[in-house]
Amino acid sequence: MSLDPSTLYLVATMVAAMLGAMLLFFGKRENIPALKWWGTAYLLGAASVALWTLAANTLGEGLSLALNAVGLVACGMVWNASRVFHGRKPNWPGLVLGAIVWIAAVATLAPEASALRMTIGAGIVAVYAALTAAELWSERRRTLQKRWPAIVVPLSHGFALMLPILLGDLLHPRDAAFSGSIWVTIFSIELVLYAVGTVFVIFMLVSERAVTAHKTAASMDPLTGMLNRRGFAEACARVIDREANAGRPVTAMIFDIDHFKSINDRFGHPAGDEILKLFAAVVVNGLRITDLSGRIGGEEFAALLPCSLEEGVIAAERVREAFADSGIVDEGGPIDTTVSIGVAGGPAGTELEVLLAAADTALYQAKRGGRNRVEAAEELPLSLENWRRKTAGIARQPRQQPGIPSLA
Ligand code: GH3
Ligand code: MG
Ligand code: MG
Repeated sequence: MSLDPSTLYLVATMVAAMLGAMLLFFGKRENIPALKWWGTAYLLGAASVALWTLAANTLGEGLSLALNAVGLVACGMVWNASRVFHGRKPNWPGLVLGAIVWIAAVATLAPEASALRMTIGAGIVAVYAALTAAELWSERRRTLQKRWPAIVVPLSHGFALMLPILLGDLLHPRDAAFSGSIWVTIFSIELVLYAVGTVFVIFMLVSERAVTAHKTAASMDPLTGMLNRRGFAEACARVIDREANAGRPVTAMIFDIDHFKSINDRFGHPAGDEILKLFAAVVVNGLRITDLSGRIGGEEFAALLPCSLEEGVIAAERVREAFADSGIVDEGGPIDTTVSIGVAGGPAGTELEVLLAAADTALYQAKRGGRNRVEAAEELPLSLENWRRKTAGIARQPRQQPGIPSLA
């Protein structure tokens, strides 16, 4: 089977242009900057290759060189698109460096060295492909299994381009007609597959992100912006696993704002909401970035800290004090903002439910002891069942919801 290289190149560029227009359109509609980068890169790349293929003979040396440089900038844009996709800034010097190296190479090499030129050009494209793969690889928050096409597609593209560099000299030693060789055919077929493959990867990443965004929305409390009960439980499970592997202890705490009902009654529900937001900010500011916190009920919050009970009590004290000192004044007068906190710590791998059960009992002690205080749990329930039975017997006047909080 003989394939005409020019026709192949044209088909490849048309496919790339069509995909570019699609990405640009979709990126504009959904306002995804990375897709606009990708789309523009494809259109630019396709235009430069098409012009170069169609008018190679009529173009002057300078114009032909400029078109090649534009094509390399397009490769740099694909790499930058993956940076932008991950929320990083575009790398402007890197974007144009490939084109500059190419122009410098052509300017310094003798015209006879066309094979070497092509090798350098392919090498630059391969480097951009590898950078793109590295960029997608570095974003390993998802499982590798789902991510593998994002790595494999640009890497195989880079590899295909490196092949002639690796084998070219073996197959065609000093072949002046190198550019007309079988590699041109292989490249154009590879270009079509790469363009289609990349768009597949792009849409896979975009849809994955949309799913994550929806999942996030289902785990968030809209009032405070904190994790809700479900989100908190899921995040805790991951932290507990991680800490268990490292053999480190974990500490949980439950916060319950004191006399919150009376705040609502005296100052109104919207004022109550503002106090909840304020408390959320106090918790987040009072804890470390590695600590997890969430709103697990109306005026109940919880946190999980990768530390010992003693350190946890210190953190809880900090939050209690900051909230008591917040000095909120409403038109109706100053609002007393205090919180009672129950803290429970456990050895590596202690389940969240167990920690929260003990923290809840400690919280109950804090309420009974006069509120606006931190109590640490003295023991952890060995069996949740027995613990439930035992605590169910305790009269729980100060708190409205009897029983152990369950996040299951
Ligand atoms: P204690 O010191 O014993 O904890 O007393 P409390 O009044 O804080 O406890 P209680 O459980 O009796 O009252 C909780 C109140 O929280 C009742 C409910 O109306 C209020 N609440 C629950 N969710 C919200 C909310 O989203 N916004 C507002 N403003 N109030 C809420
Ligand atoms: Mg409560
Ligand atoms: Mg309360």
